[in-house]
Amino acid sequence: MRKHCPVPWVEIIPEQIHVVGHRYSVSTPIELKSGRNDDLFGQADHEDLAIKIRAARQHADEAADTFSHEIIHSIDSCLRLHLSEEKIGRLASGLWSTMLESPGLLEFFIAVRDGRAI
Ligand SMILES: [Zn+2]
Repeated sequence: MRKHCPVPWVEIIPEQIHVVGHRYSVSTPIELKSGRNDDLFGQADHEDLAIKIRAARQHADEAADTFSHEIIHSIDSCLRLHLSEEKIGRLASGLWSTMLESPGLLEFFIAVRDGRAI
């Protein structure tokens, strides 16, 4: 169980993910701060391979959208794509909406991964 759990999704968000062969840790601090933006929803650190999703004031669907955004940032970094922030935002929204609106898609991917689709 996680230390702080202000919202239910914190309990089920994965503690790590693999992005193009890189293992990123995932944490859910209550707040995120940076020098240039005091209202961050998520943050990806590509040197420490860490993704942070702010737990406070984010509903599950917002947290999932934020998580998708940080994953796209991580893919961008790992593959050195140098995408703009706007393109990252659009790709993240596209990824998240495709997952949401496509029942069975994740199950299909998991079945392929597990060798059950051969
Ligand atoms: Zn961003």
